[in-house]
Order: sequence, then structure tokens, then C-alpha cells
Amino acid sequence: MAARRKPGLPALPPVQAGPILHATPLVERWFWHYWQRLGLPESELALLALTQDRREYQRWTGKRLNFMVLGCYCYLQFTGKVSSSVADRASGKPGQPEGRRASAMLPLPGFSEGPLSRPVAVTSEPPRHRHCIFIEPDMQPRSIEVTVAHELIHLADRVRGTPRRHRHHGYDSIAADEAAITGYDLEELRRLLHEESARREQLRRARAPLRYIYVCPNCGKEYPRARRYSRPVSCSLCDKAYNPRYRLLLARELL
Ligand SMILES: [Zn+2]
Ligand SMILES: [Zn+2]
Repeated sequence: MAARRKPGLPALPPVQAGPILHATPLVERWFWHYWQRLGLPESELALLALTQDRREYQRWTGKRLNFMVLGCYCYLQFTGKVSSSVADRASGKPGQPEGRRASAMLPLPGFSEGPLSRPVAVTSEPPRHRHCIFIEPDMQPRSIEVTVAHELIHLADRVRGTPRRHRHHGYDSIAADEAAITGYDLEELRRLLHEESARREQLRRARAPLRYIYVCPNCGKEYPRARRYSRPVSCSLCDKAYNPRYRLLLARELL
């Protein structure tokens, strides 16, 4: 019987001879295709785990995936404590939460890797990192392809020691690389991203209808929400960073 872990602590998948691919044959196919195209090193394969199950990804990484996320790459590193950095593929969110999301430092007392079976690298050092990837299963085939390519670009950046953050999904240097590697043009990639995001948004609305209308006291922009904000949020039109002067106010509740 497995010991119960506190939620939020990553339970890394065991290192095996090859990658862990909990994925459909289509995702597997694109995974191998883009792994080769990006010239990724074979030595990283045993340190990789890919899933299309949100809960499994959450278990591995200790991170919750936002409903709108279509794909995610997470680099987990541990040296006594586990730290990680995450690269999402999702559409933008309207409000500006106070402070950035709590940074990804997860102390992990008594962490052990479980049975050590490392047939690949015969070194004295156990592996110090893992790559975790999530791919949303409910997408059109072309979106599945480009999402796999996208997450592997993040992985390639990390392996080369030059991780990039997104400036603007579909418009930044990562999008340019995605176009170059997949052969789709940027317009097509943006259209796919837009379609999938719109679909996720529809699904989300069906699950959680909008009930609360928040309003910016400065510009009057309305922010409809399914749930109340759990912390102060300010208007992203009036200030890109959190600014208490433009803190959103609950204007009305739809019943
Ligand atoms: Zn990304
Ligand atoms: Zn405003």
C-alpha cells in the first residue's frame, strides 16, 4: 500500500529505461517525431514522463493545471529540496492577481526516489531532474501535433540551458520556433490556438456558469466570473501589474 502524500508535494515518476508515455498512439508518434527533429539527447529520455491525464500530471509535479491549459511542460529539479518551473500553453486571463503565483519551491523532507533502477546512465550520481509534460487529449489532431512540438521546444530550451518565458502566446519567439519546426505558418498556429481556447472556454462555461460581475472603479470594464475572487485583483487594462487603485469591485450577482 502506498503511503498517502500530502497534496501539493510532487510524486515523481520512477526512472525507467525509457520515457514514460501515458498517451495515445497519435501523441506518441508526434513525440518521437519532434524529439528527433529537435535533436534532443537520448540521455534525457529516461528522465521524461508525459501524460494526458491532468490528475496524474498534478501528482507528478505537485501543480494544479488551470482548466484552460492545453499543454504544459514542467522541469523538476531536486537537490534536497524540489524546485520546478512551469511553462503553460493557455489563453490569457483577464484580471491581474496580487503578486505572482507562489514561486515553485517545494521543500520535500524525506524525499526518496523509490526503487532505483537506472539501467541507462551508469554514474554514481542519481539523476537530479525530470521533465514532465501534459498534453490535453480533447483537441483536434493538428492541435495535438503542435502542442507536442510546443512542449518539446520548452524542453529543448531547458536542456540547452536557455529557458524562455512567453511574452505573448502565438506571437513570441517560441511561436516562431513552433512554426519553423512544424512547418505550419504562424497564422495557422494562432488560429488553432484560438479555436482550442474558445472550445475550452465553452466547456468551462458549461461547467461553471458566470455568476459574479466585477467592475473596475477606474475604467468601468466588467469582469464576469464563475466564482468570487479569493484575493484582491485589479484591472489589467488600467495597470498590467497589481494596483490597489484599480482593485475590482463586486458590482452584482446573477442568480
Ligand atoms: Zn509554452
Ligand atoms: Zn480599469
